[in-house]
Formats: sequence, structure tokens, C-alpha cells
Amino acid sequence: MKKRMERVKERIAKAAEGCGRSADSVRLVAVSKTMPMEVVREAIDAGATVLGENYIQEAREKFNALASLPAAWHFIGHLQSNKAKYAVRMFDLIHSVDSLKLATALDRYAEKIDRVQPILIQVNVAREDSKSGIYPEDTLALVKSIASLKNILVRGLMTIPPYFNAPEEVRPFFAALRELRERIKDEAIANIHMDELSMGMTGDFEAAIEEGATLVRIGTAIFGERH
Ligand SMILES: *Cc1c(COP(=O)(O)O)cnc(C)c1O
Repeated sequence: MKKRMERVKERIAKAAEGCGRSADSVRLVAVSKTMPMEVVREAIDAGATVLGENYIQEAREKFNALASLPAAWHFIGHLQSNKAKYAVRMFDLIHSVDSLKLATALDRYAEKIDRVQPILIQVNVAREDSKSGIYPEDTLALVKSIASLKNILVRGLMTIPPYFNAPEEVRPFFAALRELRERIKDEAIANIHMDELSMGMTGDFEAAIEEGATLVRIGTAIFGERH
């Protein structure tokens, strides 16, 4: 685990520096979905500082046991509004908000526990029926309506491109997310930050970094294949 983690961090640094960025402008989210508690603990020992989880129930068990360890928890899966109450208690960043309904639910529960919940907007850049995320042309309007929610802070955008395992095939989708981020940033909407771009997984993270990723979500290259 330690070797794989170091190797991934080296590849991230190399990709960043190769395009004139600093290595620490890209944060690694170690995607620990389906991995047992002990393996997650091992990942933290091996230097994972951010863990990415996809399922609320699974995340709660790990979080309750490991919350005292020095790692942040991010939610990267599809989130239902009726789970918003659990999500705001655990996650430093929720990558996958794609509707006003979900944002409103998060806002309500965040207010109850007196915190401001950082989120990203998940964009379905490739317009795939099978994927969550809002379409690019609807993103600005969604961001504008979320801007009035006092206990939500939009930090940027996230996407999951079609799975090609071929970085050059997905690169245009990464570039499109970056361009959308710039367009929204230019609007200078109060209460909206557009610093973060969550994109890139095991098969394509170097291309994502070259296109501006600030958060890469990597599971397999760290933990091995999931069963
Ligand atoms: C599982 C998952 C990942 C990690 O994928 P790998 O190919 O194992 O690196 C990244 N992002 C999301 C949203 C995921 O569900």
C-alpha cells in the first residue's frame, strides 16, 4: 500500500510539474469505497489525507471508527436528499451535488448543526443517460440559485467522463469542464467560488491534471482492483 501510494503521489507531482503547475496544487482523494476499515486505516498510515466514499451507510461505519485519525472525508457518490442529514455531519466536501433539491436539503441540515457545507457541482459533460450530474448548459442557473443558500458554499465543479480507460479520449471532457468553470467564474457571483476541479481517476488522472484538475479521485491505483 505504502509503495502504491508513493507511486501515485509521484505520478501526480510529475504530471503537475510537467505542465508548469506545483505538485501541491493537486490534491489526492484516495477512493476507499468497498475497502474494509482496516485497509482504510492502512491508507491513512500510508499517507492518505483525504478519503473518498460513495455510499452513506458504508461511509458512516468507517467515519465513526476512524474520525479521530488525521484525514478528511469527501463524498463522491450519488447522494439522495433523504441522506443529506448524515452527509453534512461527515464530509468536508461533497463532490456530487446536481440539483437544487439536494442543495436545499444539505443547506437545511447544515444550518441545524451550525456549519457551512462546502460542495462541488457534478456536471454530466458527456450527456450520458446512465450518469448523474447536471448538463453543462444548466449549470450556471443552478449555481445562481444555490448562491442564495446561506449554509452552502460552492467551491467548484466535478465530472465523471465516459469510461474509455484512454486518457486522450476523455481529455476533451476535462477541458470542457475547465472552460465551464472559467465561464462561471467570470460571472463573479457572490458566495460562489470556482477554485476546484474534481476530475481524473486511475485510468486518466494525468490528462485531468494537464487540463487543470485540483482534486483527483483515485481508487484502483492505490488499493488494487475492487471486488
Ligand atoms: C470509484 C470512483 C473513483 C475511483 O476510480 P478508480 O478507477 O478506481 O481510480 C473515482 N470517482 C468516482 C466518482 C468513483 O465512483
